[in-house]
Amino acid sequence: MSDFLSEAPGDFSVEIELIGARYAYENAGPAVPMTKRQCEARKAFIAQLEENHYAMVWRPCLVCDGKWFAIIALRDRYDLPVPTCICRECGLVQANPRMRPGDYEDFYATLYRDLYVEETLDLPAFFKKQERIGKRIRQYLADDVDWRPPTRILEVGTGAGGTLDYLCRDGARGIGIDFDESYLAFGRKRWLDLRRGAIGELDISVRPDLIVYRHVLEHLDDPVAELKRASALCRRGKGMLYVEVPGVDAISTAPSRVGGDLLKTIQNAHTYYFSRKSLANVLMMGGFRIRRIDEQVRSLSIAYHDKARKTPKFREDWRAVLAGLRAIEERYQAGADTDRETLSRPE
Ligand SMILES: [Zn+2]
Repeated sequence: MSDFLSEAPGDFSVEIELIGARYAYENAGPAVPMTKRQCEARKAFIAQLEENHYAMVWRPCLVCDGKWFAIIALRDRYDLPVPTCICRECGLVQANPRMRPGDYEDFYATLYRDLYVEETLDLPAFFKKQERIGKRIRQYLADDVDWRPPTRILEVGTGAGGTLDYLCRDGARGIGIDFDESYLAFGRKRWLDLRRGAIGELDISVRPDLIVYRHVLEHLDDPVAELKRASALCRRGKGMLYVEVPGVDAISTAPSRVGGDLLKTIQNAHTYYFSRKSLANVLMMGGFRIRRIDEQVRSLSIAYHDKARKTPKFREDWRAVLAGLRAIEERYQAGADTDRETLSRPE
């Protein structure tokens, strides 16, 4: 088992301030029920760490370049030994140290599906679920976007394209990009323009009027670099960006599957856990000006790529973020004891 504290580089300052005792890594069992297949994937992931095929590396903070962190969790919901930190300068919650980009690539190619995706994924039902998400996004953006031609929409992380399909039902032209060929193939059968790859790799000759990232940025190693690529595609002052991420501030209040349990939201596939403020920082650094943003976190911004900048530092803000996380944990502990007993442990 790695000692993340002692492995921090000399110019890093790191302390352990766990949200609660159950955030320690003690093989105490997962926070969510796991199938046999998930348990196998968990074991395989731990083996990759133990055999040093995957290496955890400390990074300065994405937003403020800071090197002062508090480790708030030493495990995730699957009881994997991955640390989560809060930056003690800007308050960004992040996986740190975390795997190298190549390790993540390998993880997504080999273990991610077994750990995160249902064994028998019902693609038509998944597509319908994506359409319902499209309906919600369309409602959020109703007054901002003209959904008719010649509007062009680019969705990054499109999956099977159900969301894109819904957004384009009044004639806007859509392009969806993602990596998983089985999802893409399903959407292509419905005549959607779905392409395999990342935003910087594909030759997208059109300038999109709207780019959609739903539950994508929290998986990326460098969401600022990603957003810079996105804003570079847009016309300055015109291109719109819709970003939605799971919001750490909304864990207790938003209707969700996690029942107010912060531990259930911590997962080794997530590199960042955004609040309204930390996502705003990342959007601004990526070259976007924010029009509106809420705690869920959903946001609409406009591309101003030549104005991309470092954000002002939010010194001491981490105290408020950490207090918020502790309050979420306290509320959960006060109300969910019966709920927890029903969860199974890994075999
Ligand atoms: Zn920071």
